[in-house]
Amino acid sequence: MEMDFKYIQVRERILDWYKDNRNDYPWRKSRSLYKILVTEILLQKTIAINVKNIYFDFFTKYKNFKAIYNGDINILESDIKGLGLSNKRAKILKSLSLLIITEYDGKIPDEPEILKIVNGIADYVSNAYACFGLNLRTFFYDVNIKRFIQRIFSDQETKLKRETINSELDKMLPKTGFKHMYWAILDFGNKICTKSKPKCALCPISDSCNYFLNQI
Ligand code: SF4
Repeated sequence: MEMDFKYIQVRERILDWYKDNRNDYPWRKSRSLYKILVTEILLQKTIAINVKNIYFDFFTKYKNFKAIYNGDINILESDIKGLGLSNKRAKILKSLSLLIITEYDGKIPDEPEILKIVNGIADYVSNAYACFGLNLRTFFYDVNIKRFIQRIFSDQETKLKRETINSELDKMLPKTGFKHMYWAILDFGNKICTKSKPKCALCPISDSCNYFLNQI
């Protein structure tokens, strides 16, 4: 298959699949930069349904960074215990709120890279925030996105480097509406292209997938 065509086909079919199969998570509808950034921290190393379960209560109680800054860390930890790693997560939220309240007058700095000053915030959170909050076409990946790219575009033995994954994302993401592509890949990895026993028989891009084609 001609390579450019493959990226276009994967993009169109995955976005098409997403229209009928997307998860209706509240943070995907939010326009609040505060909620978008904090949600990315809550979503790290846990499953999305856990975040959905606490989402409304959490943001009812913690309406802004000041509420997190002023709150007791033990209570914050208890409020997010359903996500796991609550100790670590609470420390990140506290450090982030300290930075934003004391250095940026309560507003998230315009340059997302600055967020990485906070211990526990790395490329994924800052780039996901830039994409979902600021509508910037950034590249980032978790295990699901990496697996998706590996199976479709690579052989299964190669250890993919960051630059390779970013380059594949660049070729695959649409020029606008890229956030929908990220959400589509995340949902697709959760429902179809799962870590074990991917549901290849139900997959709309199996004829573009190296993993699948090498098994026939
Ligand atoms: Fe994943 Fe299978 Fe689809 Fe390939 S064919 S993308 S392995 S579900």
